[in-house]
Amino acid sequence: MDRKLIERLTKVIGKDYVLSTPEDLAVYSYDGTFAESRPDLVVLPATTEQVSEVVKLAAEMRVPIVARGMGSGLAAGSIPNTSGGIVISLTRMNHILEIDTENATIRAEAGIVTADLQAAVEKVGLFYPPDPSSIRHSTIGGNIACNAGGPRCLKYGVTGDYVLGLTIVLADGRILKTGGKPIKDVTGYDLNGLFTGSEGTLGIITEALLRLVAKPRYAKTALAEFSSLHDASRTVNAILTAGIVPASLELMDQTAIICIEEAMKLGLNTDVEASLIIETDGANEQNVLSEIEAAAKICQDTGAHSVKTAQSETERANLWKARRSISPALARKAPNKLGEDVTVPRSAIPEMVQRVRAISAKYGLPIVIFGHAGDGNLHPNILFDKRDPEQWKKVEQMVAEEFEAALALGGTLSGEHGVGVLKRPYLEKALGSISLDVQRNIKRALDPQNILNPGKMFQE
Ligand SMILES: Cc1cc2nc3c(=O)[nH]c(=O)nc-3n(C[C@H](O)[C@H](O)[C@H](O)COP(=O)(O)OP(=O)(O)OC[C@H]3O[C@@H](n4cnc5c(N)ncnc54)[C@H](O)[C@@H]3O)c2cc1C
Repeated sequence: MDRKLIERLTKVIGKDYVLSTPEDLAVYSYDGTFAESRPDLVVLPATTEQVSEVVKLAAEMRVPIVARGMGSGLAAGSIPNTSGGIVISLTRMNHILEIDTENATIRAEAGIVTADLQAAVEKVGLFYPPDPSSIRHSTIGGNIACNAGGPRCLKYGVTGDYVLGLTIVLADGRILKTGGKPIKDVTGYDLNGLFTGSEGTLGIITEALLRLVAKPRYAKTALAEFSSLHDASRTVNAILTAGIVPASLELMDQTAIICIEEAMKLGLNTDVEASLIIETDGANEQNVLSEIEAAAKICQDTGAHSVKTAQSETERANLWKARRSISPALARKAPNKLGEDVTVPRSAIPEMVQRVRAISAKYGLPIVIFGHAGDGNLHPNILFDKRDPEQWKKVEQMVAEEFEAALALGGTLSGEHGVGVLKRPYLEKALGSISLDVQRNIKRALDPQNILNPGKMFQE
């Protein structure tokens, strides 16, 4: 990288926060996938103004710039791909700037860890619902950039539903402020919506103003066990069409359960083909209890051989610990996993599950199925060994068939992880050429030099 650029960046940010040794760069070469690509330089700014100065320099020198939160992404979005360039890590910008209890809002810097923000608002009786399973190792900026979901998003909505305003550094270094505290705002285009889910390709988010809700006072969580994965998946819609709106409705298949149990020793019954974790919550204890009982009854009617409601906070926490540890626990089964997040209309969940199983049988590689089934959002994870070229070839075909199945059922490629690099080849098929053209034009209008996270989402 140009020495002059390094010197000028060092002047802006300070030498401790401009990293260029091979060891430092290696740390920023990965995300939550198996992809790997090294940046030329990493900078860790502390303020929006510093971010703006960095972007101005990058624009002047036409150097690619990749925004990074905690690097937990599952689409290879925060690593530089083949472009190299500067990774801009937001993790020093992790402060809460204001909690407004009267208007139920929080303003925070983009690099704050999601779990830290949640804990801070819960201390004052408020609630920030979006809860990606990576809450302890992802940032609000990364969540907004990917429009992250999570188990609670069934009842409460996804990250984008909580974004009231953003501070964004544009590709030429200008600082854009969008939105504000009013709940309703139709003055001009919805720029919050445009930047939410834009994966660092349109601007760098440095601050967010988020909507909060009252913290639910009661919650009940049940585990329903099924000897048939098909029965478990058809139960999801049976619960939702009965008028019950659980906070969460999560599906785990047998391999997922076995992996969790081997890793965590939580006492889960592994002799089942699938389980559902169902949670109801709210302000009225009786309603919360009635809803979990009604959901349990539906599970029994649709083939569950056991439905147990957690009797203590520890039992409830253990169920969520189990759910959150699926992804890391799968590492015990194979050197690599490729997890997708296809999403289908809820009525198509049983059919999608069948099709994923058929793909696994056809190619002879295991696919673990779990996910936010209430949202129709499944995480089929192919387990394989990337060192074996035969297996890798099969994995590529399997992924393509998973996407084809989701699209054929009226679904989509990604419910929450985003496109990044990994889903890029399938984008036109999912969106159609006109939508792709409109999206490319938006990118060109906001980033004419294509310096913000180039090669992500689509190839320019
Ligand atoms: C074990 C595990 C469980 C997960 N569970 C879930 C889940 O339940 N739901 C879910 O939605 N996701 C989940 N994920 C995926 C991932 O955690 C989310 O996509 C998360 O939102 C990424 O946040 P991050 O801070 O790590 O972002 P990064 O991985 O650093 O970046 C992700 C993308 O956002 C861009 N970006 C990051 N910060 C900014 C910023 N400030 N401004 C502009 N662009 C930015 C990057 O350029 C990149 O394109 C999981 C991942 C793992 C490893």
